[in-house]
Amino acid sequence: MPDSLPFVSDGSLDKDTALAHQLAVQRTRRPVDPLLSLVVPVFNEEESIAVFLATTVPLLERDGLRFEIVFVNDGSRDNTFARLFQRSRLDGRLRIVNLSRNFGKEAALTAGIDHARGDVLIPMDIDLQDPPELIAAFVTRWREGYDIVYGIRTARHTDTPAKRLSAGWFYRVFNSMSPVRIPPNVGDFRLVDRRAVEVLRQLPERNRFMKGLFAWVGFSSVGVPYERPERAAGTSKFNFWRLWNFAIDGVVSFSTAPLRAWFYVGLAIAMVAVLYALFIITRVLIFGVDTPGYASLLIAVLLMGAIQLLSLGIIGEYLGRLFVEVKGRPIYIVEGVYEDGTTEPPKP
Ligand code: UDP
Ligand code: MG
Repeated sequence: MPDSLPFVSDGSLDKDTALAHQLAVQRTRRPVDPLLSLVVPVFNEEESIAVFLATTVPLLERDGLRFEIVFVNDGSRDNTFARLFQRSRLDGRLRIVNLSRNFGKEAALTAGIDHARGDVLIPMDIDLQDPPELIAAFVTRWREGYDIVYGIRTARHTDTPAKRLSAGWFYRVFNSMSPVRIPPNVGDFRLVDRRAVEVLRQLPERNRFMKGLFAWVGFSSVGVPYERPERAAGTSKFNFWRLWNFAIDGVVSFSTAPLRAWFYVGLAIAMVAVLYALFIITRVLIFGVDTPGYASLLIAVLLMGAIQLLSLGIIGEYLGRLFVEVKGRPIYIVEGVYEDGTTEPPKP
């Protein structure tokens, strides 16, 4: 098994040939019968569990894939945990990572990734909006040597026009500001090889914008298009404000452009103030003084205000993020891990 890429450095290899070599090397390292870990964060999803398992498990069995399903119960307040526990007693391939409270989807996903044992990981939603039929196609591309295979939503007609529009804007803004590019219309639904997972797990930040982290990790990736269906059961957990904050977290944790923007805002205001000053001074020179001291006062207030806002804004952004990271609190807290029905569930 060659350890380095079989390059002849005569400069004649183009990008595609290089990728072909990279893939060829990875191909030889693929285990014949890989263990798939489906990582499924769940929050108040009691209606979705049965339909998810009834759809996903037979599909994987039909395709002869070896798998485990790691459910992360993200502090559900309904019967989600009880139902998952019941199912995990009947099927040793199911595992439940029970978080101590709701930590949000990104943290839940991180918990699931930390507890998965598979050769490849597949984060997916429980509402069947990430179609399990795609898993076999993911595995095929992975066998070709790709380390990350992500699903691309071709049609978003199940989303409202407002959501589609805001999503489009988000990708544009994010990609114009961040040095890491995330492909548009790609969610968390993807297949990730163990070696990319291990790199991802080294990333210590508290602010876990998973799509961004996956993109940051790099490795050879390829997309598989799919149509995103409607939610099979239950309701969406993301309202407008949650999505808005999610978008801000994403941009702020991957780009310092918002910090730098304040500098230019301040500069623009200062320039306007200078122009205004010139205007007032000229007017005074030509027409004489109308309100003594007024012009110089206004100019000073505008100019200083702009400069102060600018510096405060910059310091505030840095401080806010340092604060969160410096506290160093864990990303999630596990109440318990349940599998094989070996542990009794906590009393409700
Ligand atoms: N989810 C979670 N914690 C949360 C919110 C959501 O684990 O705080 C899970 C949820 O149970 C589902 C997935 O994240 O499995 C995606 O959520 P949803 O389908 O509501 O999002 P949408 O598809 O509407 O963007
Ligand atoms: Mg959904």
